[in-house]
Amino acid sequence: MNSLQLILFTLNTRIMGRTKIVAANWKMNLNLSEGEILIEQIRNGIPSVLNCEVIIAPPFTHIQMAIMAAEGSAIKIGAQNCHYESHGAYTGEISVEMLKSLGVSYIITGHSERRQLFQETNVIIREKVNAILGGGLIPIFCCGESLDIRESGEQNGFVRKQLEEGLFHLDVSSFQKVVIAYEPIWAIGTGVTASPEQAPEMHAFIRETISQRYGGQVSDYTRILYGGSIKADNAATLFAQTDVDGGLVGGASLQASGFLSIVDAAC
Ligand code: PEP
Repeated sequence: MNSLQLILFTLNTRIMGRTKIVAANWKMNLNLSEGEILIEQIRNGIPSVLNCEVIIAPPFTHIQMAIMAAEGSAIKIGAQNCHYESHGAYTGEISVEMLKSLGVSYIITGHSERRQLFQETNVIIREKVNAILGGGLIPIFCCGESLDIRESGEQNGFVRKQLEEGLFHLDVSSFQKVVIAYEPIWAIGTGVTASPEQAPEMHAFIRETISQRYGGQVSDYTRILYGGSIKADNAATLFAQTDVDGGLVGGASLQASGFLSIVDAAC
């Protein structure tokens, strides 16, 4: 980033603040018509002008439908995964370019389910981050520790390593496009949510770690979402915490009224 870009970027951050994001991760749920009905319900329930961003990441098979169903609304469509290569003999895989050609703007990467169930390492995730940014899309980079790591008190070092190995190779102008989602594994799909102390504590740590690598201005600007059993009844408390810039929502994004309440809490 040159000095003019840095000044503009700082001014923009000071004036606009960090726009909150509510991102829905449908995972491997809903058939095509169920997905279409859900988008229709969400679309009908949110104002056409929002002061936050709403992203829905359906399964790959539903993306084209979702783009069409969300057209003309404030809803943006994301993907849950991508391959890091642009094309070739990778049976069953989907490239960033393919997603971009559909109209996808965000891609989730580094999700703990991909790390645990599909053996995605920090190195693979770094390649995916590069491919997503290279294609002009925005990565939602997930990080977060397991219960064992939290109980041993090593969560900060663990998350720092995920950031260092997955993101910190980026130059400033690339890094500032990234959205981070802190998702403690012990809170994902378990009904257990990080407490109003635990979430902001880790978010502050992540922000400080970014500041050490990229400086305070970039760190101030970076959006850090929380993910892990967000529900209609805990969203407002979580989103009110310093350094929590919205949420990545799994289970509670599969039902319109609950998801709309979460959007309402952020916007
Ligand atoms: C997720 O998988 O990203 C997630 C946050 O799931 P849930 O909200 O169901 O815990």
